[in-house]
Amino acid sequence: MTSVQDETGVLAGDERMLIDGELQHTSSGATFDVIHPASEEVAGQATDGTVADMERAVGAARRAFDQTDWSRDLDFRYHCLTQLHEAFERNKEHLRRVLITEVGCPVKVTGSQIESPIEEVKHWAEHGRNFEYLADNGVHETPMGPARRKIHYEPVGVVGAITPWNVPFYLNVAETIPALMAGNTVVLKPAQLTPWSGSEYGRIVAEETDIPAGVFNVVVSNANEVGAALSADPRVDMITFTGSTATGRAILAAGAPTVKKTLLELGGKSAHIVLDDADFNMALPMAALMACVMSGQSCILPSRILLPRSRYDEGIEIMKNMMENFPVGDPWDPNNMQGPQISEGQRQKVLGLIQSGIDSGARLVTGGGIPEHLPTGYYVQPTLLADVDPDSQVAQEEIFGPVLSVIPYEGDAEAIAIANNSIYGLSGEVSGGDLDRALEVAKRMRTGNVTINGKSHFGINSPFGGTKQSGLGYRNGEEGYKEYLEAKTIGMPE
Ligand code: ADP
Repeated sequence: MTSVQDETGVLAGDERMLIDGELQHTSSGATFDVIHPASEEVAGQATDGTVADMERAVGAARRAFDQTDWSRDLDFRYHCLTQLHEAFERNKEHLRRVLITEVGCPVKVTGSQIESPIEEVKHWAEHGRNFEYLADNGVHETPMGPARRKIHYEPVGVVGAITPWNVPFYLNVAETIPALMAGNTVVLKPAQLTPWSGSEYGRIVAEETDIPAGVFNVVVSNANEVGAALSADPRVDMITFTGSTATGRAILAAGAPTVKKTLLELGGKSAHIVLDDADFNMALPMAALMACVMSGQSCILPSRILLPRSRYDEGIEIMKNMMENFPVGDPWDPNNMQGPQISEGQRQKVLGLIQSGIDSGARLVTGGGIPEHLPTGYYVQPTLLADVDPDSQVAQEEIFGPVLSVIPYEGDAEAIAIANNSIYGLSGEVSGGDLDRALEVAKRMRTGNVTINGKSHFGINSPFGGTKQSGLGYRNGEEGYKEYLEAKTIGMPE
C-alpha cells in the first residue's frame, strides 16, 4: 500500500456521476471546474448534472426500493457493505489525494476524514447485521382482551442525502451508509465545491461492489436547484442533510407538502466556557488549535471562548501565542496543520466577519488578514478577537474560519447565559478543575453535545445532533441508526 508521502500532489477525481447503475455524464455534456484551494488552479472537471438527471436518479432509487429485494435482504446488504468497506480500503490513498485536492485539508489531519469514515462502513455493517428488526413489546391488556405487540423496524424508503464541502467524504459516508444498511435506497447530492468525493464514491460502488443498479446514486451538479429538486420530489421519503441553517430551512419547507422525514445537522456557534479553576495551559492551546486545524471549517468548533474576568489577560496570551506559531501553509506538506479556506468566496466571508467584529468594538489581538508568506491560495491568518460583544454579528454568526471570539464573564450564571445567547445549539465545551461543577455547567448549556476538559463528545457510538436551529434528529449511536427506520407496531394474538 502506498502512503501519501510516496504519492502527493493534486489528483483529479472521476468526472462522472452514478445513476441507475451507470457511470455517466450529464446529457448536455456540461462540466464545471474543480479548484485546488492551495494553488487556485483548476484541478479538473466534474459533470454538471441537471434537474432532469436528478429526476432520473430518484426514479431509479424508487424502483430499486419498490421492486427489488434490497429492503428485505439483510445478508445481501451486509455482503455489499463489507465489499464497499474493502473497496474503500483499497482506494484509501486515492480518496485522500482527491480530498486534499478539493478541500485543501492538510494531509496531517486527514485521518478523521478518510480512515474514520472507512471504519464507519464496517461499523454500520456490523451494527445493522445485529440489529433486532422485529422486537417483542410484550402482552398488553386492551378492551378486546390481551394483545401481543411486536415492533417491526423497517426502512423509510428512498433517502435523499445532501452534503456540504467541509468534510465531504466523511459526511457522504455518514449520511448514506446507515441508510443503505437499514434497507433504504439512496440518492446522494454532494456539494458543488467537492463533487469528486461524491463521484469517486459512486465509481467505487459501480466498479467494485455488487450493490444493484438504482440502490445508490450520486448526482453531481453545480446548481443549488438540483438539491432543491431532490428535497421537493414526492417520490423521496426522507432527506438527510448537513449544511447551513438557511439551506436547512429551505429543505424543511420543500419537504412540507409531502411531510418528508427530515434529518438536519446545521450550523453552530458553540461556546467554550473556561471556568476560573481550569487548567489554562491544557485547555487554551487546544482551543486555539481546534480553531485552526480545519481552517475553522467545522460546525462543532467552539468559536466563542468565554473567559473569567479574573484570568482574562492570562487566557488571551496563551491563545495568542499558539495562534502566532501555528503552522499554516501547503496542505501537502506534513508539517502544516492549517491549510487554506476552501474558496475565495469563503475567505472573503471570513475576512468580512472579522472586520465586522472590529467595527463593533472587538480588539484584534492577532491575525485578521492574509498570511504574508502565502500570497497564493485562499489562506487566512489564525485570528483572535477579544472584548467581543456577545450580541454582535461576529459572536452570533457562524464564521467557518480560523477565528476565535473571546468574551469576558463574571460568575458561572453569566457564562451560561452568554453561551445560551444563540439561535444555535450544536455543541459546547467546559473546562474546569472541579468536575462536578463543570458537569453542572455542561447540563445547563442548551446544546446537543458538550465536551468537558477536552474529552470529546463525538464518536460513532454516541448520538450526535443539534438543538434549537442547529438541527433535527441524530447521527451516530443507536438513535442515529433508527433515524433510517420506521417503527411499525403490530398487534397480534398472544
Ligand atoms: P454552504 O453555505 O456552507 O456552502 P449549504 O448549506 O448552502 O452550505 O450547502 C450544503 C449543500 O446543500 C450543498 O450540497 C448544496 O448544493 C445544497 N443546497 C444548497 N441550496 C439548496 C436548496 N435550496 N435545497 C437543497 N439543497 C441545497
